[in-house]
Amino acid sequence: MSEVLNVEEIFGSKVFTLGKMRERLPKSVYKEVKKIIDHGGELSLATADVVAKAMKDWAIENGATHYTHWFQPLTGITAEKHDAFVTHPDEYGKMIMEFSGKELIKGEPDASSFPSGGLRATFEARGYTAWDITSPAFLKEDATGVILCIPTAFCSYKGEALDKKTPLLRSMEAVSTQALRIVRLFGNTEATKVVASVGPEQEYFLVDRDKYLKREDLIFAGRTLFGAPAPKGQELEDHYFGTIRERIGSFMKDLNIELWKLGVTAKTQHNEVAPAQHELAPIYETANIAVDHNQLVMETMKKVAGRHGMTCLLHEKPFAGVNGSGKHNNWSLGTDNGVNLLDPGDTPNENIQFLLVLACILKAVDTHADLLRQSASDVGNDHRLGANEAPPAIISVFLGEQLEDVVKQLVETGDATHSIQGGKLLTGVSTLPDLDKDATDRNRTSPFAFTGNKFEFRMVGSADSIASPNTTLNAIVAEAFCEAADILEKADDFDIAVHDLIKKYLTEHQRIIFNGNGYSEEWVEEAARRGLPNIKSMVEASETLTTEKSIKLFEKFGIFTKAELESREEVLYETYSKTINIEALTMVDMAKKQYIPAVMEYTRTLADTVLAVKSAGADATVQTTVLKSISEKLAETQAAETALEDKLAEAAGIEDPKKLAFFYKDVVHTAMDDLRTPVDELEMMVDKKVWPVPTYGDLIFEV
Ligand code: ADP
Ligand code: MG
Repeated sequence: MSEVLNVEEIFGSKVFTLGKMRERLPKSVYKEVKKIIDHGGELSLATADVVAKAMKDWAIENGATHYTHWFQPLTGITAEKHDAFVTHPDEYGKMIMEFSGKELIKGEPDASSFPSGGLRATFEARGYTAWDITSPAFLKEDATGVILCIPTAFCSYKGEALDKKTPLLRSMEAVSTQALRIVRLFGNTEATKVVASVGPEQEYFLVDRDKYLKREDLIFAGRTLFGAPAPKGQELEDHYFGTIRERIGSFMKDLNIELWKLGVTAKTQHNEVAPAQHELAPIYETANIAVDHNQLVMETMKKVAGRHGMTCLLHEKPFAGVNGSGKHNNWSLGTDNGVNLLDPGDTPNENIQFLLVLACILKAVDTHADLLRQSASDVGNDHRLGANEAPPAIISVFLGEQLEDVVKQLVETGDATHSIQGGKLLTGVSTLPDLDKDATDRNRTSPFAFTGNKFEFRMVGSADSIASPNTTLNAIVAEAFCEAADILEKADDFDIAVHDLIKKYLTEHQRIIFNGNGYSEEWVEEAARRGLPNIKSMVEASETLTTEKSIKLFEKFGIFTKAELESREEVLYETYSKTINIEALTMVDMAKKQYIPAVMEYTRTLADTVLAVKSAGADATVQTTVLKSISEKLAETQAAETALEDKLAEAAGIEDPKKLAFFYKDVVHTAMDDLRTPVDELEMMVDKKVWPVPTYGDLIFEV
């Protein structure tokens, strides 16, 4: 029998939870901490000292030797610098491990080597990390030992945000303040805040580590830059929800255990559509904790995969021709007295608060579709958005039959008198129960879909932090709530005013609603007719950060200053150019050192064969034809490789970051495609034994 896993016991065992604080802190200190977690404020240094000591004692009891301020710079991943609890020994050489309140709440990492987009010159190195008290500290265990990790926000000496968390926290406060105004209008006097909650579903690929190590492109770019399709792809749809193989299963089991220890509610696991692709979904939590936990999920996936002789690929498009990976970002708003603002109830037509919230969200998404699209862009996601499996790059909202009908009634008649009900699902089998049906079917092709009591933002990339999408969502919805509250708080007759406002918003913004097939060509045309933006790449999306509309929005709620937005735009251009440059250099390297030599060697063998066959007096037509066509492709490869190098040399001469990014997108990218084509064709013509790297078949069917 396998050992019994006590999940309740291991869950959160590596987290300094509220429960542990209640146990270990004096009552008054615990109360102060809890108050700040719930309602904000600043910890006094005296209190911080007490908390730090309790945290350190707990960490040391659990084997910790170091602590770190764990933060999320604009690289999109996390950063940490470890400090031991070690202090200066006394005169007898005895050392006592210490950790002060000051060390807990504030850190000073040298910030000069993190991307800042010109916010700081290299010599202006000072940056601060500040404890995010709302996200619990935890222990990370690896070869370095056990490290106490303190989730923090990261700012410059002048207070500018240098990370993904600071703006997220600012946006959460903004949406809470504005949403409270809305619920107050409907008589909710008890709620003291509104919390943005997020549940991100994470997709990923697993490949065999030994094969991975034979592919420079996977090592340097995280995706294949060459590779002919395997004879079988995902067309049989036999991988989705398929039986999980032993090796993958034991990975998933280990992953769950590690995540549970870290307090991550890993809940759902299954095989995804593409071969070698899988998914993990946790239970939703407060947005900033969900962001932290998603980082831990990605990091733990990589770590655990290594233990199982595999490598986890989080890239949005590791393999051409099969599905890429995304992250479905489920988002909703709830009051602290238990009301989900996105819950329509059974009869949404009567739920005026819900209809107002919905109308505001539609208005927000329509007004800022460009920003929402931007928030989900990263270099890898350019391969996914608009391709066949992912949502298109056009933002639209799927409401489903029931809500669409309510909206239609409101727009057409000004009154919604009824809601379509789900009814019974008749199974037609006497031994099976008849099921209550949801009032709404699902739509896999929509980038922003209403799914019962939340919206599912499906554009987000698998490798990306979910901080930006949620910051943007909170911000745009805060703005819509604010405008609605400004009007309604002043209204003489609230009932009439709210009714009129809902109708106005729905009428003005109904173009954003689309329930059809988002993958179809007709939709692209229809969306253009409706005037919806279709922003095709990350580089083009980056410009939307600094439009007048964007600056006004983010400055109004103190989420980003103009300077912060400009710096972020610049970081995006730099990231894009650097990433494509690495990919291009990797292609050049592989072409010159692996593919071209291997094929040259093969042509020599073929030439020998031709000569041998001829001298034996036999017909060598087949051998000659094969040799000729392979030689032609080899020449094409050589020419394309040289052309790519020329383009890279040209890029080196461009200084303006924006121009450079566009050059990489429009020119270098095309040259990369031109090199890939003949190499992939050669792969189909050359003896597998001489092919220098594992093929798609090896990588995705033999894990
Ligand atoms: P679906 O199958 O419709 O995607 P799931 O129940 O599997 O629904 O949920 C997907 C994700 O959405 C999970 O992470 C879940 O915790 C999260 N989720 C559910 N309710 C909410 C909510 N109110 N706010 C945010 N996320 C939610
Ligand atoms: Mg889902």
